[in-house]
Amino acid sequence: MNNIEEIFGSNVFGDAVMKERLPKETYELLRSAVMAGTSIDSKIADTVANAMKEWAIEKGATHFTHWFQPMTGITAEKHDSFIAPTKDGRIIMDFSGKELIKGEPDASSFPSGGLRATFEARGYTAWDPSSFAFVKDKTLCIPTAFCSYGGEALDQKTPLLRSMEAISKQALRIVKFFGMDDVTTVRTTAGPEQEYFLIDKELFAKRPDLMYCGRTLTGAVPPKGQEMNDHYFGVIKPRVAEFMKELDNELWKLGVFAKTEHNEAAPAQHELAPIFTTTNIAADHNQLTMELMKKIADKHGLVCLLHEKPFKGVNGSGKHNNWSLATDTGINMLKPGKNPSDNHLFLLCLAGVMKAVDEHQDLLRISVATAGNDHRLGGAEAPPAIISMYLGEELTEILEAVENGVHHDDRHKINMTIGTEVIPTIRKDNTDRNRTSPFAFTGNKFEFRMLGSASSISDANVMLNTMMADVFKEFADRLEKADDVKSEITKIIKETVHNHKRIIFNGDGYSKEWQEEAKRRGLLNLGSTPSAIPYLCRKENIDMFARHGVFNETELKCRADIALENYSKVVHIEALTLIEMVKRDIMPAVSKALRNLCETAGVINATIGRKTSTAQKDIIEKLSDCYDSLYNLATELDTEVEKAQGISDVLEQAKYYNDTVLVIMEKIRSISDNAETLVPRNTWPYPTYGDLLFKV
Ligand code: ADP
Ligand code: MG
Repeated sequence: MNNIEEIFGSNVFGDAVMKERLPKETYELLRSAVMAGTSIDSKIADTVANAMKEWAIEKGATHFTHWFQPMTGITAEKHDSFIAPTKDGRIIMDFSGKELIKGEPDASSFPSGGLRATFEARGYTAWDPSSFAFVKDKTLCIPTAFCSYGGEALDQKTPLLRSMEAISKQALRIVKFFGMDDVTTVRTTAGPEQEYFLIDKELFAKRPDLMYCGRTLTGAVPPKGQEMNDHYFGVIKPRVAEFMKELDNELWKLGVFAKTEHNEAAPAQHELAPIFTTTNIAADHNQLTMELMKKIADKHGLVCLLHEKPFKGVNGSGKHNNWSLATDTGINMLKPGKNPSDNHLFLLCLAGVMKAVDEHQDLLRISVATAGNDHRLGGAEAPPAIISMYLGEELTEILEAVENGVHHDDRHKINMTIGTEVIPTIRKDNTDRNRTSPFAFTGNKFEFRMLGSASSISDANVMLNTMMADVFKEFADRLEKADDVKSEITKIIKETVHNHKRIIFNGDGYSKEWQEEAKRRGLLNLGSTPSAIPYLCRKENIDMFARHGVFNETELKCRADIALENYSKVVHIEALTLIEMVKRDIMPAVSKALRNLCETAGVINATIGRKTSTAQKDIIEKLSDCYDSLYNLATELDTEVEKAQGISDVLEQAKYYNDTVLVIMEKIRSISDNAETLVPRNTWPYPTYGDLLFKV
């Protein structure tokens, strides 16, 4: 394989290329505009566009596209070629600053939640110069934000950029009190660990549920699942290894810092973790990662499933969003250092995160609320729907000490011996890994673990950044008024810990006891998307987002509507798919099995004059019951889906899909799964779980 250093970022119009290809002055102006977050004038844009075009053409590009992330959750592109006609009827390859800065895709086909009435179907895309352009599939891709002509955000990137500005602004007010006058921006960083399944393409094509919905709607549990724990970190199968190799290679070309690839807990499940980077770039990179995973899997005769819960009874897939705050001078504000007790900036930030998470449990829950993720949260595999924070023993003790005004001796560290002389003693990580917590401190960052595997990381980071900006604002307001800053800092930490310690939970988040304990503590437990989304437009939330210029009230309401609409659409498609599967494949298979059994019984009877055996009778009876129930339930589902379609209120509709439609679907599933165990293998219409999970 090529030299990694050479290929890394080779398809990206990154800093080094810009430095090399842009006039020095343009480069400096662009860079400072990006650093300061100010707008770029048209002259610079023209020069940059031209250099970009030349570079892209050398890389084989013929087209360009504004690459953006509408609220469908996937990325969108509309390709235009560089070709421009000349007066004498020839063509030249052209790309102007205007085309770089602004694009006008037909916005009417993207969800807007009513923000953009159809008569005003126009929206525009605007260049995000802080995320580098790149070449993919012979196309120059320009990362852009997508807005309506009224300026309302129609995408995932715009609010993310706004939230990053908001938190930087407030965090700057804070760091000033710690003598860090040289800091000019504070960036949030993200490292999303991406889980996914790989299954055989031919088997995939035989399952309408996987094809239409990305998850199985029926499927009996195989004799072997993940109970042996032999897949996690196990040896990677050759076909999968080939896939991973190519994926890494392609991601590296695009400047994505793909770092570790390993198997996950469930059979056929894997994970990719990148090295963290600035949040908006991490979000772009994660979108690219998901896109490439699907594309490259296909080349290897595989299908990459990004759904949160493709298989019942087998772990689903999530995305851990590792999140921190870093100054442009290189200081990680969530790094405890050697003596966390004396690191007041760290303690203030830590207390701040406690307050933010406690006060905005609803927003964190909403940021991960989708129909797919609802199947995962709360199962004994993913964090519960309750938001809590894990700090580990040492930090919890330190905070307790601060709250009680006593001194904590940080040197009292526990050493861990592995029991062999060869391996050196390692210090027990002060954040021993609690896998069951939705929001865990892991050494120098927080890990928000509730995200679904298919979602963009933008929503979650918009929430985190805005919540934290708001807390910083409150702290900074106090500090700027204080006579004695030092004692005010201690006071703030003390008070905050005292007021918000209910959010700390270091125990087993999967346990029943925690559900009860959380209730006693008054923590929210929003089990489904329709129950969570209405919290988005609480007065406090509307005010907070407005205060920091992240969402106005209209934008927020539209987002709530879109989330609910998407939810209903997903369940609707699933229900229709299931009805079709039952009527056209599953019932006929049951019928065929029944006929075979009856025929056999008849033949035996005629030949040796023996009555039908009890075993035959038993199976015939059971299958016959299944057949009836499947028919009745499929008919009922049909009726209920139609009813759901008739509900005009988006919230009521989503609730109906959740409370009624999904419930019938579950009933159908349990009957179908039972039938699957009674029908001969070669009569069942679909590949089994065993085939799907173990035949790669
Ligand atoms: P684990 O699977 O144990 O959670 P990994 O090493 O797979 O750990 O993933 C950790 C992730 O956290 C990586 O993507 C890493 O880049 C990211 N990370 C590390 N430090 C930071 C930070 N300061 N900010 C954001 N993400 C970080
Ligand atoms: Mg993790």
